Amino acid sequence: MSGKLNCSAESCVHNMSGLCSANTIFIEGNEARTSRSTDCKTFAQKGFINAVTNVVNSNVPGEIRQFVNQDEVVMSPSIKCEAVNCTYNVDQICGASNVAIYGPGAKSSNGTQCETFVE
Ligand code: SF4
Repeated sequence: MSGKLNCSAESCVHNMSGLCSANTIFIEGNEARTSRSTDCKTFAQKGFINAVTNVVNSNVPGEIRQFVNQDEVVMSPSIKCEAVNCTYNVDQICGASNVAIYGPGAKSSNGTQCETFVE
C-alpha cells in the first residue's frame, strides 16, 4: 500500500494519534465477504510488555517524519492481507490508496476490522 492508513484502535501499542506506527501489519480474513470478518492481526494492547515485544515492528523513521509533518499523513505501514475476496487485494498485498482500520475499545485483534474491505 502506498496510501494512508487511519486506525481507531487507540488501545493498540502501534496507534499514534489515530495513525499506525508499525512497519507492516497483517490483515486476517481469507474467507471474508464483509469488513466484519477481517481483523488486524498485528493489534497488541498497550502495555509495557507489548511495547517491548513489538519494538521490532516499529517504524521509527516514519514516526520521526510524522512528528515533523504533523499536518499530513506521512507514516503508513505496509499491509499484508489474507482477505483475497477484497477488490484491493493483489497477491495478498493491499493496493488501496487509503485504508481505515476500525477498533474503538478493542482488547484483542478480534475487536478490529478493515473498514476499507470491498468485495
Ligand atoms: S490495530 Fe493494526 S492498524 Fe491499528 S494501530 Fe494497531 S497494528 Fe496498526
